[in-house]
Amino acid sequence: MPAFDRKDFEARYADLLLRARRLWRITLTLLVVVWVALLSAVWLFSFVRWPAWARGVAFGLFGLVFVGWAVAHSLVWWGPVARQVGLVCPFCRKSLAAVRGRPTGLRVLATGKCPSCGAAVVEPGAPSAIVPPSRPRPSPFAALGLVLLVAASVVTGRRLNADYCRLQYAGALTAADTAHADSVALPVNGRSRTPGGTCVNYRHARLLEGRR
Ligand SMILES: [Zn+2]
Repeated sequence: MPAFDRKDFEARYADLLLRARRLWRITLTLLVVVWVALLSAVWLFSFVRWPAWARGVAFGLFGLVFVGWAVAHSLVWWGPVARQVGLVCPFCRKSLAAVRGRPTGLRVLATGKCPSCGAAVVEPGAPSAIVPPSRPRPSPFAALGLVLLVAASVVTGRRLNADYCRLQYAGALTAADTAHADSVALPVNGRSRTPGGTCVNYRHARLLEGRR
C-alpha cells in the first residue's frame, strides 16, 4: 500500500507548482523593474560620467537580484515548501517535489517511486488534469513586454554609445586626439572587430551631433 493517495499527491503538487509560479512572476517583475531603472539612468542622468564604482553598483544590484533568485529558487525554496505541502518521502524524508531545484512530481506520478531512495510512494500512472503542465504557455502580454524591453535596450545601448563617444571627442584638441577617440571601442557591443565597433562609426554616421 503506497504512502500517498494519487489524488492527494496531485493536489499537493499542483499547490506547490502554483506557489513556484507566483514566486517566478514576482522575481521576473523585480528583474524588469531593476532593468528599466538601469535603462532610465542612461537617459535621465549622464550614466557614462558616473564613476566606475557607481556603474558597478548599478549592474551589481541587477546581478545580485538575479543570482539571489536563482539560488533561493533552486536550492532553498523547494525544500521547505515541499515540507509545508507535505510532499516528503516517508522512507528517506527527502523532498518528492524537487531534487536540486528540478521539479520531480511528474516523474514520481509516472513511476510511483521516490526520486531519492526509489521506494514506492504512490500508485504509478498518468497525471490527471489538476496537475498543471511543467511549462506554462507565456501570455501574449509577456511576449509583447519582452519585445518592448529588447527594443528599449537596443535604443538605450545606442544612446549610451553616443554619450560615451561624445565624451571621448569633448577633450580632443588635435588631429591626433581625434584619431585616438576614433579608435575607442563602443562600450555596448564594442568588442567585436566588425565595422561599427568604434566611435569613428558613430562620428561618421553623424550620431554625435545635436544634444550635448
Ligand atoms: Zn525516499
